[in-house]
Amino acid sequence: MNFSSKLLEDAVAEFAKLPGVGQKTALRLVLHLLNQEKYEVEKFSHTISKLRNEIQFCHTCHNISDQPVCEICASHKRDKGLVCVVEDTRDVMAIENTNQYNGVYHVLGGLISPMDGIGPSDLEVDTLVERLNTGEIKEIIFALSATMEGDTTIFYLNKRIKHFNITISTIARGIAFGGELEYVDEITLGRSIATRVPYENSLNR
Ligand SMILES: [Zn+2]
Repeated sequence: MNFSSKLLEDAVAEFAKLPGVGQKTALRLVLHLLNQEKYEVEKFSHTISKLRNEIQFCHTCHNISDQPVCEICASHKRDKGLVCVVEDTRDVMAIENTNQYNGVYHVLGGLISPMDGIGPSDLEVDTLVERLNTGEIKEIIFALSATMEGDTTIFYLNKRIKHFNITISTIARGIAFGGELEYVDEITLGRSIATRVPYENSLNR
């Protein structure tokens, strides 16, 4: 692309770094911003830098939060003995939308993926073991996508935590293969949590 302005070119290059955004889309977005009032564009950039600077991760579950401890972990209505292990905040949002889960979460921050160079030490694995060491947790539910990375991660985590005297279960994996939790409809997701099965049993089917 030949740009008539270096400023325009730089802005397009920044937008094109976003996932799923090519050069053409980036140019369309930048031109759209140029058509906005200056204060609107300032609000836009301020919101993004504020997000990046001020966002926190819950000290307990590692979900994205505005406080050191997220609202879910801080709530007295939630069952702290029941912990659902998920990949990222999108999965927490999807499960919360079902209105059928009363436990708390543990957000791994990704899945084990040797191809992408992501190992257990890149994820919140040790902190999960630390939470189990407190003895407060009675059940762990794996709610990870039915992909190779999801299966590898569950297999590894199970090895790390199976010596604890707790129930380890996994949500029904009938969810379309390779499908990610955030795309599953609320009723199906809610049902798959309610009908979760012990992890060891899920391996024999
Ligand atoms: Zn939390």
